[in-house]
Amino acid sequence: MKEGIHPDYKECKVTCACGNSFVTKSTEAELRLDVCSACHPFFTGQQKFINRGGRVEKFKNKYNID
Ligand SMILES: [Zn+2]
Repeated sequence: MKEGIHPDYKECKVTCACGNSFVTKSTEAELRLDVCSACHPFFTGQQKFINRGGRVEKFKNKYNID
């Protein structure tokens, strides 16, 4: 057994703070991101969006975290 040399990649559900979610391959079963390809300034060109407040609150409300 050579554990660690070949990580166990599996389907990983990625959820972003912007509400976007997608499935990718990872050693983790689930991941949470602050930015993704849908909201990252590199892709959207909306640099101000990242610096604007309220994103976390919006995320909390969406998932009923209080
Ligand atoms: Zn996003």
